[in-house]
Amino acid sequence: MPCTPEPPEAVRRCRLRIRGQVQGVGFRPHVYALALSRGLSGWVTNDTEGVLAEVQGRAVRDFLADLVDRAPPLARIDDIRVEDRPPSAGAEDFAILDSSRAGAVATEVPPDAAVCPACLEELFDPQDRRYRYPFLTCTHCGPRFTITGQLPYDRPQTSMAGFALCAACEREYRDPADRRFHAQPIACPDCGPQLSMPVEKIVARLMAGEILAIKGLGGFHLACDARNAAAVSRLRRAKQRDGKPFAVMVAGLASVGGLAEADADEAALLTGIDRPVVLLRKAAGAAALADGIAPGLPWLGVLLPYTPLHALLFHEAAGRPNGTGWLQQPQDLVLVMTSANVGGEPLVIDGKDAARRLGGIADATVDHDRPIVVRADDGVVRRVAGRPLWIRRARGAVPRPVRLARTLPPVLALGAHFKSTVCLTRGADAFLSQHIGDLDTAESLRFFEEAVAHLRRLVGSEPVLVAHDRHPDYASTRFADGLDLPALPVQHHHAHVAAVAAEHGVAGPLLGLALDGVGLGDDGTAWGGELMEVDGAHYRRLGHLAELPLPGGDAAATQPWRMAAAVLHQLGRSGEIAPRLAAHGPAAELAELLRRGLRCPPTSSAGRLFDAAAGLLGICPVASYEAEAAMRLEGLVSVPRLQPGGWTIDDHNRLGLLPLLEALIGCDPQVGAELFHGTLIAGLVDWVGRAAEATGLTQVALGGGCLANRVLAEGLIDGLTAHGLAVLTARNVPPNDGGLALGQAWIAGLWAADNGM
Ligand SMILES: [Zn+2]
Ligand SMILES: [Zn+2]
Repeated sequence: MPCTPEPPEAVRRCRLRIRGQVQGVGFRPHVYALALSRGLSGWVTNDTEGVLAEVQGRAVRDFLADLVDRAPPLARIDDIRVEDRPPSAGAEDFAILDSSRAGAVATEVPPDAAVCPACLEELFDPQDRRYRYPFLTCTHCGPRFTITGQLPYDRPQTSMAGFALCAACEREYRDPADRRFHAQPIACPDCGPQLSMPVEKIVARLMAGEILAIKGLGGFHLACDARNAAAVSRLRRAKQRDGKPFAVMVAGLASVGGLAEADADEAALLTGIDRPVVLLRKAAGAAALADGIAPGLPWLGVLLPYTPLHALLFHEAAGRPNGTGWLQQPQDLVLVMTSANVGGEPLVIDGKDAARRLGGIADATVDHDRPIVVRADDGVVRRVAGRPLWIRRARGAVPRPVRLARTLPPVLALGAHFKSTVCLTRGADAFLSQHIGDLDTAESLRFFEEAVAHLRRLVGSEPVLVAHDRHPDYASTRFADGLDLPALPVQHHHAHVAAVAAEHGVAGPLLGLALDGVGLGDDGTAWGGELMEVDGAHYRRLGHLAELPLPGGDAAATQPWRMAAAVLHQLGRSGEIAPRLAAHGPAAELAELLRRGLRCPPTSSAGRLFDAAAGLLGICPVASYEAEAAMRLEGLVSVPRLQPGGWTIDDHNRLGLLPLLEALIGCDPQVGAELFHGTLIAGLVDWVGRAAEATGLTQVALGGGCLANRVLAEGLIDGLTAHGLAVLTARNVPPNDGGLALGQAWIAGLWAADNGM
């Protein structure tokens, strides 16, 4: 078919203002290379708002399309503004202007990124000067957040400051056509960091069954051969975690297949530049792993190598093949890679600390001399309802901001107590910190304080208000009290719902369903199954799950058999408590406490409801880690089923599930788990549906730790959508307490704006 050539564009000059993550990611060379290839003249520079450029020529339209479509891997473009200018005569060349002349600072530090394909090619190319060099990086990959102390993101502000560039690296760093142009962590074997132990020795020791503490990007890992049962059980004993699953690392996507099932979306999560641990369904080959990896669960946490050192371990085990073709073949080596922390303390990041704190666990320490400025654990995600859901948001995701619906006064939010993160806002951006952990120890509190200080240096905004949980005894609340700032207490479940609303840019009224472990309610009791109407900074409790007593108080949270006893008591079947549950603890005493109502505070917690079901089914009478019972219960479900008449809704809009729980007594565990999930989902959908009709609201935000349960989350989304509701769920932050600070920040920012701060 004959085609008419498009008329050439007239000469045009445009000024471009590009905002987003466009500094320190190779954006100026990208603009430069595109301009040259399109024969455009002009210039590009960094300034305080991002990237500023002017281009002139006949192919500006194509240039603009490529600018976005072919953006560098670490770039994130939030906004491009194009303004036409009169073409200037005599303009011929294109230049990268020195940003320091414009008084520029890099406004955002990029997240750490997995080693890129081009660097991997060099790593396994014997002719390359960085062959087998464990610290090679370029503009598109490597450490960023974890090596940067403060703005601007520039080599002197990073822990690479102490490494003077050699002449060869200097040339690459200065050359706009080079992949390492202005790559701040650039290094080579002649001038960069060095490893304390040769790679062949590391691999030999791992293969011999040793446990090694290996320094990575955001901290140390404890590593061992995942097929070596003795090494795995030794690691488990030493780490003081009875049954908490370990993640495993394999060479590449081709090596995942035998161990776990990954569909195309899960494969994309595994290979993404943020390279988190991905929870996958175990496949037959998982049986070849040591028993202690993920006991009692149908999922396996899998991650792929993200540093050159990780890649080198598998390369060594594969016999040092040249090129990257071997990564397309299944490789035998499977490594346990678990965060090097002990007994709830934060991740170890320092070599001396590693020797001291991990000495009793690790047979040796693999250190290097590039300091880690700030800790970041591996992130953890799973695929829920066709989207990635963060369970732990950490390395690779931070400090990427969440874009809010509007610009707000800057506020600092401190989260709660468990899975702590903090959040600082700047304009319409909310910067959520990396996962800090539970604030139970002095060490974790120190990490919390460091994370707050680091975030303030990195974001560079001065908060006018600090938000904290309503609980007066949380360390985070006491920290807020110690700051010289006005403080706003925020109810826990209001914050959960607000976090989801904030992510979706919803400031107006909506329904909120929080299904959570525990948070202090406005009436002083422990809440956790809450139906709310949330309107900006305000909320109203519309209803809640019918309360269950917590026999013995906090102990009930880790001993699901106690929740089973509470249910038997409420059913008027106290006489069955001792006969059914005595094997798990002091059941007769508990029955007496329940009868007298002593040390049995009420809770509307959804998490405890899962515990009660697990306890009644005998699935996990005593949990060895948080949410174990709920995870095991979910793991048994193949298809959720309905127990007719399983729930009640009373005059106070309390959703009761005693009929369902009674049906679980003596039930087969799998059938019971399916009845529990199916009926709970149907009851919640009924309850929320009625609230939607009563209020006229058409949007519902789902928040709280229980939303990490895939069966529950997908069932609720389907059911509520079928009810005609728009369902909002967590996207870029976890639905659990790890995302709480975002909700607090959104509420506090709106509150500050309302009050003219
Ligand atoms: Zn690279
Ligand atoms: Zn060098």
